[in-house]
Amino acid sequence: MNSTVAKPTIFELLTAYHQSLDNMKAWLEEADLDEVARMGIADAWQAEMTASFEAQGYCFACNRELDRCTCSDAL
Ligand SMILES: [Zn+2]
Repeated sequence: MNSTVAKPTIFELLTAYHQSLDNMKAWLEEADLDEVARMGIADAWQAEMTASFEAQGYCFACNRELDRCTCSDAL
């Protein structure tokens, strides 16, 4: 037995992602914001999701584990 915290599966991360997306969209619909502000919030949320995936060891763009991700190679 090791003491490391179990890493979430990509399925768990994607489920959390979709819940967060729904919450963010619902909030934006309620909020009285112009289009520029909405885009800024959506961008900030997207950046947060990307960082969250990477912190868990997954690539946000391709959903692969980071050591199997080739996205950055294509840049
Ligand atoms: Zn990738």
